Amino acid sequence: MSDAIVIGSGIGGLACAAALAKCGRKVLVLEQHFLAGGLTQTFTREGYTWDVGLHYLGDLGPQGKALLDWLSDGGIEIAPTDAAFDTVHFPEGFEFSYVSPPAAARDALKKRFPGSAGEIDAFFTALEHAGRAAMAMFQARALPRPIAALVRWWKRDAFKRWVARTTEEVLREIVSDPRLRAVLSAQWPDHGGSPKRGSFAMHAAVMRHFLAGSGYPVGGAAVFAKALVPVIERAGGKVVLKARVERLLLERGRVAGVLLADGTEHRAAAVVSAAGARNTVEQLLPTEQRAAPWARDILSMELTPCHVGLYLGLAGDLRAAGATTANHWIYGSWDTNAATWRDPGRSDPPGMFVSFPSLKDPSHVPGPEQRHTAEVVAWVDWETFAPWQESSPGHRPPDYERYKAMLGERLLDYFKRCFPRLAPLVRLCEVSTPLTMVHYTRTPLGAVYSLAPTPARFLSKSLGTRTPLKGLYLAGQDAMSPGVTGAMMGGVMAAGALAPQVFRRLG
Ligand SMILES: Cc1cc2nc3c(=O)[nH]c(=O)nc-3n(C[C@H](O)[C@H](O)[C@H](O)COP(=O)(O)OP(=O)(O)OC[C@H]3O[C@@H](n4cnc5c(N)ncnc54)[C@H](O)[C@@H]3O)c2cc1C
Repeated sequence: MSDAIVIGSGIGGLACAAALAKCGRKVLVLEQHFLAGGLTQTFTREGYTWDVGLHYLGDLGPQGKALLDWLSDGGIEIAPTDAAFDTVHFPEGFEFSYVSPPAAARDALKKRFPGSAGEIDAFFTALEHAGRAAMAMFQARALPRPIAALVRWWKRDAFKRWVARTTEEVLREIVSDPRLRAVLSAQWPDHGGSPKRGSFAMHAAVMRHFLAGSGYPVGGAAVFAKALVPVIERAGGKVVLKARVERLLLERGRVAGVLLADGTEHRAAAVVSAAGARNTVEQLLPTEQRAAPWARDILSMELTPCHVGLYLGLAGDLRAAGATTANHWIYGSWDTNAATWRDPGRSDPPGMFVSFPSLKDPSHVPGPEQRHTAEVVAWVDWETFAPWQESSPGHRPPDYERYKAMLGERLLDYFKRCFPRLAPLVRLCEVSTPLTMVHYTRTPLGAVYSLAPTPARFLSKSLGTRTPLKGLYLAGQDAMSPGVTGAMMGGVMAAGALAPQVFRRLG
């Protein structure tokens, strides 16, 4: 019998299992898909390989790096990208490049908005305060409930000011120029909380994370599973693929194991769900447990938007054609809230993200054809795709296939107009929709980062690594915060709830 069962092999589940393995625990990881890695998986077509859920990572700092080395036995290397890591584009050809470190970004912003120098300073001060509040909020998510309550009380003023208010509320208080507000909120899709909906603490944490330095895993996102699975196995654990957990098994009021869709039962004293908090409550909890206040609270939480992905294979000299390791955020208006593509048949996406992963990966071998990749993302509504949700890949109805092809063509056409020098280099393209996300990761309603990082989510006492149901823990992005680092920390913190010596690794 295993010491613990982890549901889901995304970075949240793998980090949890690897941390437990490092403490000598035998862990069984159950993954519904045929590949491990969740959103850190990659896929390959005709020799081109793309990530599905990682474009860049923020700086982990020395402690974070030491933690990653510990978890992976030094098997994961993060290569820094260029200092200019994100370029934001707005109407009338406005462009601004975010550079690290924060002081350089602050200076660049002041040069661009000389009349707002004082407000820019105030914004960076707010980033510091809100970033610290976010860290306290994340810690509270991992602590036993009475101690978490104490942290919330101790930090109540900071939480009220930074966690409980949206990015838009804080920006309107500090910054008077709407264009500067747009530039400062442009990276919100990094966490999925639009300025109107997302907690400023989350926005601040993510902005600071990237301003400290952007990087990319050498070998692409798949290195996370490649490095962590052997660590789990060396401690006697196992990662089983094509093993969909259907339900949690309860005995005498505590979780005692899981039942798989094929009828197999696995038992362990602790079950960590890294399959998403909403999935856990909605699909895995026995019906009577779903009425518990913490479960109902989780079910009431907002989801992040959905996305369509366009994966491009290119051949030629990308750098000569203007591509760099910087990502591009392209907005059709100065309203960064209005990023959802509602009428793809007739209009360009109001928000588009473009990244060139192969340029960021020092291990990428372009070969004589100079093969490279680009990843393009636009945000869409679930409602458009909901009518096709019962279909499965290979058996989707023709109207879905037509719609998907149209989305791909429109997105490619817009990409080519935004990057005309790259247009002749495109050789291959592949499209994903929210239904693709649901199929490969079972994320609820195709939500890009599962739960939305709203003030309500972060102020809720229901969501953390520990649940009121004995024997059940949560890991991954929902337990902590969106993003690979947030999900990994969600995994490590969940492991800490089972093996407190893990916390010593956090310094
Ligand atoms: C398009 C896109 C771009 C992104 N870009 C970045 C980026 O540049 N930088 C960054 O830091 N983050 C990025 N992210 C976010 C990041 O990928 C996620 O926050 C993180 O990987 C989530 O990890 P997780 O382990 O919580 O969840 P997941 O990776 O979703 O893992 C959950 C796993 O659980 C499995 N599962 C679900 N239900 C069951 C079940 N019943 N039984 C068994 N298994 C189950 C799923 O198959 C999946 O493997 C991006 C995400 C997307 C979608």
